[in-house]
Parts: sequence; structure tokens; C-alpha cells
Amino acid sequence: MLNPAHTIEDDGITQSDIREVCASVTKQISREYMAECSRARETPKELWRVMRETGLFGLGVPTEFGGLGGHLTEVALALDLMGQGGLMPFRYVTTQMARTTLRHHGNDDQKARYLVPAAAGEITFAFALTEADAGTNSFNIRTYAERQGNSDYVINGTKMWITGVHEADYMILVTRTSKFDPAVKKAGFSVFIVDPKSAGVSLSPIDIGLHMADRSWVVNLDNVRVPAENMIGEEGRGLEALFDCLIPERLLAAGLNVGLSTFVLNKTAEFARMRAPFGEVIGSYQGVQIPMAECLALTEGARALAYQACAKFDAHIDSGMESDMARFLSAEAYLKSADMAMNTHGGAACDMQQDVIPFYLYAKFQSIAPINRNVCLSAIAQREFGFPKSY
Ligand SMILES: Cc1cc2nc3c(=O)[nH]c(=O)nc-3n(C[C@H](O)[C@H](O)[C@H](O)COP(=O)(O)OP(=O)(O)OC[C@H]3O[C@@H](n4cnc5c(N)ncnc54)[C@H](O)[C@@H]3O)c2cc1C
Repeated sequence: MLNPAHTIEDDGITQSDIREVCASVTKQISREYMAECSRARETPKELWRVMRETGLFGLGVPTEFGGLGGHLTEVALALDLMGQGGLMPFRYVTTQMARTTLRHHGNDDQKARYLVPAAAGEITFAFALTEADAGTNSFNIRTYAERQGNSDYVINGTKMWITGVHEADYMILVTRTSKFDPAVKKAGFSVFIVDPKSAGVSLSPIDIGLHMADRSWVVNLDNVRVPAENMIGEEGRGLEALFDCLIPERLLAAGLNVGLSTFVLNKTAEFARMRAPFGEVIGSYQGVQIPMAECLALTEGARALAYQACAKFDAHIDSGMESDMARFLSAEAYLKSADMAMNTHGGAACDMQQDVIPFYLYAKFQSIAPINRNVCLSAIAQREFGFPKSY
């Protein structure tokens, strides 16, 4: 159990505590259990229970709100370590995104109301930004929140791919509060906390072929009435609150990617120490050793950059460049490791019992979402070389 008495100063849990707790989580929750949940598309309830019991939900929430302190760095470390055990706790990522934006932009009442139960793991959040015509181009969203009197907004629109929303207690919903104007694309965003069980919200499942336990949904909002007090920040000025979700999303995804890459490398090394189609184990061949070493070097480089970016974010220093680089490199390293795992396992890679393909599919998905590699690289080129924006 993470113990508040172990915190350093007022707002920091030690990283050795986090390592100890994550080791206990990965000891109690096996990769086999996660793979079973993914095949059955069932929520990994045992994982949530153990994460709650060990106090992991308190990470990243200040002690004054019942959390254990720590910032994005500590949460990314927890994800890295859980990834190294083959665990994929996605709703932990969306919940942390919500908590970061609440911490930075929420008012006192919102912090008390949502951060306290979130620190105890009693409530989780989904994140609802994407729409059918607004994926990479988030500025194109059309979901609209219209003020009605002083107390309420009425929201209409359709969100897509919203992961875990059927079980989340709330979603961070990104809307427009003024109509889309191509001349000022970045204006008019407002961010709300919405209960997915509100009248007018309906969910339809999307058949995702990624072998993930978490399910994704189309969320239809038909005249959904939301109290004005549920808006995070000011009307029409929600872009900062949104970016305080999106940058953590990139960095937490990077933490999980490097963890999963390490898991895949270790799993493949174990196989290569045992498989011997010509008498010698395949791990004795340079054709197996060199790609594995390359994947390891790339993974460690991505890991170092991810923590560098987290440290900047936590220090409120612009971390956009490092975040894009960490996001890109972690996805590349993980995909390379997963591809190498497929090659090294040979035919065995196609046997679901060997549990290799789910990592490959998920690694491929990570080069597409939450942000695709083209856009990451274009943003890096634009920033570093001063090129005009290419999209
Ligand atoms: C399993 C899953 C879970 C998801 N969960 C969530 C969630 O919980 N909440 C949420 O809000 N969203 C979620 N998403 C949505 C995800 O963030 C989007 O799929 C992602 O942003 C990409 O958008 P798109 O699919 O519309 O791709 P598009 O925007 O249509 O892009 C398609 C491809 O075109 C290329 N491309 C696009 N724009 C550019 C450009 N400017 N320059 C160069 N190339 C470009 C890229 O190769 C890109 O992959 C999820 C998606 C999936 C598949």
C-alpha cells in the first residue's frame, strides 16, 4: 500500500515507493489475466481493485485532496512499470488526463468534488474529444453547448471512439460554445464534466479488433442538460484545459509504450533462449541479437526523453517539443520491438496462446492514435526548423 507517510515534502511520493507498489501490482495481476479480459472484452476488475487497494489512484493528486502527491512524472513511471508487467490500464490514463486539467483549471469546488474521490479510485473518467470529422483535426469539432438561462447548458453532438465511457463515472467532454469559424479555429472551445448516464446520452459500441479489454463507443448527445458549474475554466477559453489533457495523454501513452516495449523484449528474449530449430538456440544468432539490441537502445532512448518531457511539464515549462518527440519515439520503439517479437517467434507468433499479436496490434495503433506519427513529426519540423505549418 502506498503510504502517505512516505511522501517527501508536501507533494511528492518517492519513486522507490512507486516501484515497490507497482511490483506488488504486477505480482498480483498477471499478464494472463489481462489477456483473458482482452479476449472476453471484459473490464479488468481485479486490476482496478488492486490498483485501488495499493493506493495507485492517489498518485498525481495533491495531498490536500487526499492524494499521495506526485505529478505527471510519477504517474508515467507507474504506467511504465505496469507496462513492463504486460498490463494496460487505459482508464487510468484517461482518469489522469482529467485530473491534470482539473488540477490546473478547476475551481475549488470542482477540485474538492472530483479530485478527492478520484484519488481514492472511487471515480474514473473517460475523455471525449474525437468526432467523425474531427480526429487529427480536433479544431473541427461540432458538438455544441448552448447556454440556457444562468444555470444550465444544453449539449448536442456525436463523439466517436470514446474509450471506457460505459463504465466511467464522468467524461471530460470537449465542445464548442460558439460556431466554428475557419478564421479563428482555436476560439470558442469549452470543456465540461458530464455524467455519461445523463438523460439524452446514448452509447453504441464500436467493434475494435485490437485485443484490448477496454471498449470504445460512439456517444450521442441529444439535448443533454449540464449544469453551468460543470464547466472547467471559462466559456470559450477551454483550449488550455484541453491541452492539459492532450499533453499528459501523449506522455502517459509514452510511459506505457516504453513499458510494453520492455515487456515484449523480455518475453522475446525468453523465447529466443529456448527455441532451437537447428540445435543451437536462436538467441545465439546475430540475426536475432542485433535487432533485439537495437530495440532495447531505442526503447531506453524513448524512455529518457519521455521522463525529460514529463519533468518539463511538471515544472510548467513548455514541453511541446519533447512531448511530440517522446510520443513519436516511444511508439516507434514499441512498434519495432513488437515487429521483432513477431519475427523472432516465427509461426508461434500466430498462436494466440503465445500472446504476441495483441502487442503488435496495439503498437501499430500507437502510431495512429492518440496522435499519428505524421502530425508529431510535422509539428517537430515546424518548431525546430521554422517551416510553415503543413496542415
Ligand atoms: C481504439 C481507439 C480508441 C480511441 N479512444 C479515444 C478516446 O477515448 N477519446 C477520444 O476523444 N478519441 C479516441 N480515439 C480517437 C483517436 O484519437 C483518433 O482516432 C485519432 O486522433 C486519429 O483521428 P482519425 O482516426 O480521425 O484519423 P484522421 O484524422 O482521419 O487521419 C487519418 C490518417 O491521415 C494522416 N493524416 C491526418 N492528418 C494529417 C496531417 N495533418 N499531416 C499528415 N498526415 C495526416 C495520418 O496518417 C492519419 O493516421 C480513439 C481511437 C481508437 C482507434
